[in-house]
Parts: sequence; structure tokens; C-alpha cells
Amino acid sequence: KTVGVDAGGTLIKIAFWENEELKFQKFPSTDLPAATEWIRRQFPGAEICVTGGKASLFQALMQIDSEQMIEFEATCSGAQYLLRSQSLPADSFILTNVGTGTSVHYVENNRHLRVGGIGVGGGTLMGLSCIMTGMSDYKEIISLSRQGSRKAVDLKVSDIYEGTTPPIPGDLTASNFGKANHPGQKWSDQDLLASVIGVVGETVTTVSILAAAQHGTSAIVYIGSSFVDNDVLRETVTGYTILRGAVPTVLTNGEYSGAIGALLSL
Ligand code: ATP
Ligand code: MG
Repeated sequence: KTVGVDAGGTLIKIAFWENEELKFQKFPSTDLPAATEWIRRQFPGAEICVTGGKASLFQALMQIDSEQMIEFEATCSGAQYLLRSQSLPADSFILTNVGTGTSVHYVENNRHLRVGGIGVGGGTLMGLSCIMTGMSDYKEIISLSRQGSRKAVDLKVSDIYEGTTPPIPGDLTASNFGKANHPGQKWSDQDLLASVIGVVGETVTTVSILAAAQHGTSAIVYIGSSFVDNDVLRETVTGYTILRGAVPTVLTNGEYSGAIGALLSL
């Protein structure tokens, strides 16, 4: 038996084989002991490889001999595996991991390069949502965001160029939250949540697009738990990536890339 673990800033992702099929499990990172206990009970005597920012902490708690793998290597290798198993092109692409923070890589065949990262990611989504609406449950936040509209919060290019033809598409965002500087005015929770996801989505897309141009590719693969059940983020990111002339893939099970990479290293 072999088990791959990605202990990230927010979630612990676990990948393992069952009847030659990949299976997954996740736990909140605030509950490391529950995850170590689960592994100990499910896979006695298994070979384990751990990656992610909390890998060392996880290993210390688990008190079972285990391997450790560099997070970026695990993530890129797992993402390539998922692409190939889903019959998607996997030779050369930008890999954008929207986790707690966002990390951007260029993957070419068996080479990978970390292009950079930004602090705007899934943690930003959760933090700004909490400040603006008091909500802290991921499922509730993304579910309510579906009913929201960014119209009253975000300033579009067409809002600035009112009455004339803008030099760039009027539908582009000119300023995220650019209509929100009115003390005393209230916005609905759903509109605020839609706009929070909008600023996160447009920011991660912009850095991905620039990275793609820098490396001469147009394929951008998006992974990370921030996309899980999050239609609004998926649509923002895919729509905006296409509008900017690149080809987006929001990889199915992509949030498990790190755990899969760790699993495959055994
Ligand atoms: P990092 O790679 O930055 O260390 P991580 O690996 O823990 O962090 P992911 O699991 O890829 O990051 O993504 C975490 C984000 O996914 C959260 O910030 C949140 O936006 C979203 N998310 C999805 N499901 C949940 C959940 N059940 N609980 C909390 N956040 C969730
Ligand atoms: Mg991660």
C-alpha cells in the first residue's frame, strides 16, 4: 500500500490506490491529528510520502517513517499525471495552483520552473468574504456567490467611457470594487461575494496570462481547492483566460495534484 499526502495551508489532501483506481480524501489543516489518525487506521504499514508547507509538522505528528517531497515537484508531476489520464495535452503549459495562496509554474515535458506566485488566492477569497459578510463557511460562500452580480460593485471600462466607444472591450473590469467607495451605501452579501471571487479570479488569470506569454505557450491549467464546486471562480477564470487569447483547463481533481505527485514518487 502507498499513500500520498499534501499538507497545505488550508487543507490536507490524501491520494491512494484502491482496486487500481485513484481515490482521494481531505481534512482541514486545522485538524492534522484527525488526518494522521485516519491514515494510521486505514493504511497500517503503508509507504507514505508527504508534501506541502505543513509536511514536516504532519510527519512529526504521524510518528510513522515517511518520505518527504518538494511541493512544487509533487504538484507539477501530479498535474501532468492527471492531464495524461484525462487525455489532455500535457507537454507544455502554465500551471496555476490557486491554493491558500497562488503559485504559478511553467511545465515543459519533464521540466518545471516556478515562475512566481501571488498572495491573492483561496485564502483571500475566504478572508475578504469574512470581512465583508461575516460568513466563513466555504460551501455557503460559494453557494451564495452564485446569486450575486458584480454590476453595483465593480467599475467596468464602459462605465468610464460612458457614451463613447472605449479603446478596449467595454465589458472588461476597469476597477474591481471601483463602485464601492460610497460610505453608508449597502451591498447585498451575494453581490459582495461575487465581486470578491471576481477580483481573485481576474488577478490569478492576469498573472497566468502574462506567464504564458513570457514562456511562449497559450495553455493554462488551473488547479487548487479554490475551484472546488466554485462555479463563479471557474467561469470568471475560464472566461477571462479565453478573452485574453489563451486556452484554459480547470483540471478535474486538480486540487489533489500534490498528493498524487507524492503518491507516484513511491
Ligand atoms: P497552499 O498550497 O497555499 O499551502 P492549500 O494546499 O491548503 O494551500 P488548497 O487546498 O488548494 O490550498 O485550497 C485552499 C482554498 O480552497 C481555500 O482557501 C478555500 O478558498 C478553498 N476551499 C475549498 N474547499 C474548502 C473547504 N472545505 N474548507 C476551506 N476552504 C476550502
Ligand atoms: Mg497546496
